[in-house]
Amino acid sequence: MLDVAGLTTAYGAITALRDVDVHVGSGEVVALVGPNGAGKTTLLATIAGLLAPSSGTVTFDGARVTGAPPERLLRAGLALVPEHRRSFANLSVEENLRIGGVTVPAAEREPLLDEMAERFPVLGEKWSNPAGYLSGGEAQQLAIARALMSRPKLLMMDEPTLGLAPVLVDAVFELIERLREDGRTMLVVEQAATRMLELADRGYVLRSGEVVASGTGAELLARDDLFETFVGPTG
Ligand code: ATP
Repeated sequence: MLDVAGLTTAYGAITALRDVDVHVGSGEVVALVGPNGAGKTTLLATIAGLLAPSSGTVTFDGARVTGAPPERLLRAGLALVPEHRRSFANLSVEENLRIGGVTVPAAEREPLLDEMAERFPVLGEKWSNPAGYLSGGEAQQLAIARALMSRPKLLMMDEPTLGLAPVLVDAVFELIERLREDGRTMLVVEQAATRMLELADRGYVLRSGEVVASGTGAELLARDDLFETFVGPTG
């Protein structure tokens, strides 16, 4: 589904990613963990076409898409739920979801909207409210629902539990678990590393822009030497 090979991305003189290889197979849930500043957001942004790599390749669904514009990638089935769950604050929940579905044919958008209202009852209740009035947990659900509106083949999420109260963190993990049961392919950056690795099929540990370990969640959790690398305050 996704193959990242030798990816290097820099911000001017700062090299944030160095020669990174990551693979996500169809139906897999893959965790991306590592300390602050490791390059996790940079990796997702480079895959999603928001940043141009200085070298390396991104292959998605059989096509070389390195450096392709985000909209083309979205149409190809690659959706990113960005960090900080940003939505269009002045637009309603429904309008935000419609924007998420712009790449799907109009006839398919209506049933998708119904599906989101059903899957996320709290959004259904606040359908006409401005997104800016949603709580943190609701806003995260909207950000994920908006990405699902594009009917992605690969759903990438950047720190979906960041800044949420514990009960809402639980809700986000339950949601990821349900998406996993639906057979969704996901690449998830998560600060709650232990929990994410327990849920994921496989994981990658990133440190200072490089992949320092990869394996099944159980393999990575068993590595005492990595403990401090991926277990932060909430790990
Ligand atoms: P966090 O968990 O803190 O979000 P991260 O693993 O997602 O961290 P990145 O945000 O990808 O890490 O940052 C990787 C490196 O790139 C860091 O050294 C960071 O300071 C640097 N960096 C990130 N964004 C920029 C930018 N816009 N300009 C310059 N340097 C940046």
